[in-house]
Amino acid sequence: MKALKQLFYKKYNHSLTISSPNGLHLRPVAKFVNISKQYSCDVVFGFNNTHKNAKNINSILELGASYQDIITLSTQGKDAKKAIEVLSKEFEKIMQEDIPSSEVSQKQSIEVSHSYDEKGEDIKAIYEGIAISFAYNCTFTNTKSIQNISLQEAIKKFAYKLTETKEDIFVAQKALLEEIPKDIQTLKGLKTYIETQISSLAPNMNAKAIDYQDILHGISDIMGLKTKIDIPTKECILVCDDLLPSQIQTIKNSNVKGVILKKASTSSHSAILLRSEGIVSAICDMDIINNTPILLDTTLDKLIINPSTHSLQKASTILQKINLKKEQEELHKYQETITKDGKCIDVLGNIQDINSALQAKDAGASSIGLLRSEFMFTQSKPTLQQQTKLYTQIFDMFDEITVRTLDVGGDKELPYIDIPKESNPFLGIRGIRLLEIVPDIIATQLLAIYKASSHKPIKIMFPMISTLQEFIKAKEFAHKVAQEHNIDISHIKFGMMIEVPLVVFNLFLFDKVVDFYSIGSNDLAQYSFAIQRGHPSLAYDESLDEFLEIISYIKKHTSKPLSICGEMASNPKIIKKLIDIGIDTISVSPANIAKIKEEIRNV
Ligand code: PEP
Ligand code: MG
Repeated sequence: MKALKQLFYKKYNHSLTISSPNGLHLRPVAKFVNISKQYSCDVVFGFNNTHKNAKNINSILELGASYQDIITLSTQGKDAKKAIEVLSKEFEKIMQEDIPSSEVSQKQSIEVSHSYDEKGEDIKAIYEGIAISFAYNCTFTNTKSIQNISLQEAIKKFAYKLTETKEDIFVAQKALLEEIPKDIQTLKGLKTYIETQISSLAPNMNAKAIDYQDILHGISDIMGLKTKIDIPTKECILVCDDLLPSQIQTIKNSNVKGVILKKASTSSHSAILLRSEGIVSAICDMDIINNTPILLDTTLDKLIINPSTHSLQKASTILQKINLKKEQEELHKYQETITKDGKCIDVLGNIQDINSALQAKDAGASSIGLLRSEFMFTQSKPTLQQQTKLYTQIFDMFDEITVRTLDVGGDKELPYIDIPKESNPFLGIRGIRLLEIVPDIIATQLLAIYKASSHKPIKIMFPMISTLQEFIKAKEFAHKVAQEHNIDISHIKFGMMIEVPLVVFNLFLFDKVVDFYSIGSNDLAQYSFAIQRGHPSLAYDESLDEFLEIISYIKKHTSKPLSICGEMASNPKIIKKLIDIGIDTISVSPANIAKIKEEIRNV
C-alpha cells in the first residue's frame, strides 16, 4: 500500500521553522496532530535524517527538535496537496500562538513600575504577585489504601476527570492517555511504560515528562496510592521540583505565601492549577536552603535571596496595593452590584456540586443562575434518594436556584449514559436530546428536583433547545412526571438555555411558553462562529461586535427574564458592553463573582 502510494502520488514537501521559544512540546504537538489526523494522506515530519509519523504525538516528540530548528513536513496520498498547504499554515499559527492564554491575561493585570536594590535571580512567572517569607523545601509522605479498581477503569476515570476542564494542557494529556496500550493491566506495568516513554524523551521535553508523571500520579491516586505533601504550620514560600493537583489543593488552604517550582514549565498541569487558584508562583531551578529569607516578585520575574530592608519595604508597599484591590472585592462581595449610573446588576453563581455551592455563597452570589447537574454524579448512576439528598442540601443554601437538566454529550460524558460514538458529538446527541435516549434518567432527575424543592422558587432549565416543539415536549414530560407522582409543581418555572442560533430567530414563539432564558454563550458562540469550543487551534472571540449583535438581538426580542451564564459574562473587557445592551443578570463561576462585581461597580 505504501509502495503504491509512493508510485502513484506526488510527494509534497515544506520546510518549517520551530519559531516558538518553547520548542516542539506537547501542547502545540497535540494541536497539530488533531489537525493532521483529518487528512487521509501520509503526513511525515523529517529532522536530522529521521522521519516520523506526524499524526502521532509521541512520534513527533521523538524528533527532539527545538527552538529555531528547521524541520520538513511531507505529505503524500489522496489529499496531499491540500494537506501540505493547510498544515504548513496551521503549524506556523500554532507556533505563534504558543503562549498559555491564562499567562498572558495575568501578565496584563498588574502594572509594573518598581525595582529593588538587588538584581535578583531571573524566574518565570506562573501567577503574578509578591510573596515575602522564608524558603521551605517540601517533603512528601506516601500513603496506601488499595482501591478495588482495575487499571483500565482507573485510566477511564482519570480521562473523565480531564474532560471536566477545558485547558489545552488537559486536551494534550488526554491524547497521551489514549496512546497507553490497552494490554497494560497493572500499575507496575503502567509505571514501566511511562518510565520508558520519559527516558526516550529529548532533554528539552521536560514539560512532557511532567505530563506523563502527572498521568501516573493521577491514576495511582485513583487506585489508592497517594502522595501527601508535608507543609509547615508557619508561613513559608514552598520550594519543590513540581506539584500534583491534589497537593495544590492542600497548599491553597495553608500558610504557604508563594511557590517556586524547580522542574515544571509555565504550561504544565501544576502551573495551570496554581494560576487558577491564584497562588503567587514561579519557576526557578535553583537550590535554596531552608529558612532563607526570600522575596518572590513575579510581577518583575525576579527572586531575591536575602533581600535588603529597603527592598522589603518597597515590596510590602506594592503588596499592600495588590491586597487592597482584593480587599475591596472581598469587602463588597455581599453588597449589591450597582454601576456608576445606577443600574443594578444581579451577579449569580454557576455551580456543579456542594463545594462550588459553598464557594459561590462565600463569594457573594445572590443566588444560583446555573447548576450544571451533569457534574454532580460522575462515577455511577445515582438513586432517586441520593439525588434528592444532594439537591436538598444545595437548595437549602440559596433562595433561588436554576437547575439545568443533564447536559451530557458533546465534550461531556457520563459512564452510565451510553451515547453511540458520533463523528461530530457537538452536533449530535447532547442536552435535551437525551430525553429521546434516556427518558428514565431525566424523569428520576426531575422527580428528585421536585422532592427537594419543597415550594422554593426553583427554576428548571433545559439545555440545547433548538425548536419550539422540543421545549414544549420537555415541559410536558416534566409535568407528566409530576402528575404520575402526584406532586404539585405550580411553584416551579421552566426555562431554557439559548445556545442554538435557530432559537434566536424564533424568540417570538418561545416567548409565549418559556418562563425565563439564560444565554449559554459558550455554545452559542461555538455554533454561531462554527468553531468547536476548545478547538486546539481555532478560537472564537466573544467580544466581537458581530457576536455582541446577537446578544443585543436576543435582548430586544425577549420579554421574559434573561441572563447570561457563559464565560463571556465574567470577562471584564466585555461586561460594560453587555450592560449597555441591557443585560442585568449574569451568572459566573465562584472564583469570578467578587471580581466581576467590583468591575461592574466601576462601569
Ligand atoms: C454555555 O454553553 O455557555 C453554558 C453555560 O453551558 P456549558 O458551558 O455547560 O455548555
Ligand atoms: Mg452549553
